[in-house]
Amino acid sequence: MPVTVQRAARPPVALYVHVPFCVALCPYCDFVVYAGRAARGPAARVDAFLAALSAELELRADDLDTAFGVPGEHRPPLQSVYLGGGTPSLLDARSVAALLDAVRRRFGLSGDAEVTLEANPGPDERGDLAGFAAAGVTRLSLGAQSLDAGELRRIGRRHSPGDVLAALREARRAGFRSVSVDLLYDIPGQREATWRSTLEAVLDAGVEHVSAYALTLDDPDTEGLTGPLGDHLPTRPGARAWRERARPEQDLDRAADLYLAADALLGAGGLCWYELSNWAVPGAESRHNLAYWRREPYEALGPGAHAFDGGTRRRWNAARLDGYLAALSPVPGIGVGPTQLPDGRARPARDHGRPSDGRARAAAGPALPPGGEERLDDHALAVEEAILGLRLREGIGPEVAARPAVADALAWGRGYGLVEDVEGGRVRLSLRGRLLANEVLGRIA
Ligand code: SF4
Repeated sequence: MPVTVQRAARPPVALYVHVPFCVALCPYCDFVVYAGRAARGPAARVDAFLAALSAELELRADDLDTAFGVPGEHRPPLQSVYLGGGTPSLLDARSVAALLDAVRRRFGLSGDAEVTLEANPGPDERGDLAGFAAAGVTRLSLGAQSLDAGELRRIGRRHSPGDVLAALREARRAGFRSVSVDLLYDIPGQREATWRSTLEAVLDAGVEHVSAYALTLDDPDTEGLTGPLGDHLPTRPGARAWRERARPEQDLDRAADLYLAADALLGAGGLCWYELSNWAVPGAESRHNLAYWRREPYEALGPGAHAFDGGTRRRWNAARLDGYLAALSPVPGIGVGPTQLPDGRARPARDHGRPSDGRARAAAGPALPPGGEERLDDHALAVEEAILGLRLREGIGPEVAARPAVADALAWGRGYGLVEDVEGGRVRLSLRGRLLANEVLGRIA
């Protein structure tokens, strides 16, 4: 059967903005994050980042205007914006309001758009929740991870269980009607009893959405993701040593039991699974993340951020803040010197064809930051559509399921009870299949 895939680029329906600052680095974290003095205080780089972000927003919007026409006339407004990080709640509410105004002006923003902001629960991290709501944020995603004090300490988090509950109360007072909580399982030394207590506490707090991810302790250096144009930052030696100590304390069987407990408890609490790691009250699913899994086009801003044109092109910004600031800063002197990275190595020659000298760049104006891209061929597109679709409760349609590589993997999975057929000829993972998703998805890939 011929493979039919979407190849043409389309205007984005969603926008991701990466805010790369945290008060402190957690030892397991692989996100693009700058912490400590970069995040707060007299040496903070937040203002320089916001200026560069604003410049990138204008440049990306210019490119979309050229490709698809201006928003409101030829191009549909965005359906969602996601401010992720890092800890976007460290931004002041005025900056968030200004950013959303610029998004509205240059990208268009649907009247009922979902606008999510990630926040950390600590009293000095959760920021001005009422101010964020007034700025136009409609959904809060709280990085709770656990409500057990010992587990939070073991994974190096700064906040307490009480901080999580206080942040949830404050979110309600601020008027948020859509609140999500991020949780981690398979934490070293975790017990099912503490996991159940965490889940019960977030259900008691009345959240509409829970994301529960198994703690992963990868090393992006060994995966080749941390070069000058990579989308990850190098792992610090302390974090690598922490991960090596933590890994033996993880347990796949325990992780499976914890996942089953989450699915049962959250389901009984009115939150249905709609993606492998996400449960929501019906209607409170993350529209933004659904756009990723359904392969809708999305734009992205900020260091390390990934975008997809809805056809065959994925691109990313390099993770390093210095390169980001140097390319986008309208005046020389922001970021590092023009020819050297902070670790002393030469700045890569590739800078999207823009001048590499700081003064020349200032004269030419801001330039798109360094990064990379990949083009997907028909096979890669078909595989990706199947793999992303099978993460979802809605599963994949009969046309996708019938593609050769997909059909063979599904037949294998059916034999072991890992996939199930649902209405309309659609196919999805069974509960057992969700536990062994990598086995099924790996066979398709
Ligand atoms: S708070 Fe979140 S983004 Fe920041 S370092 Fe910790 S895990 Fe990473």
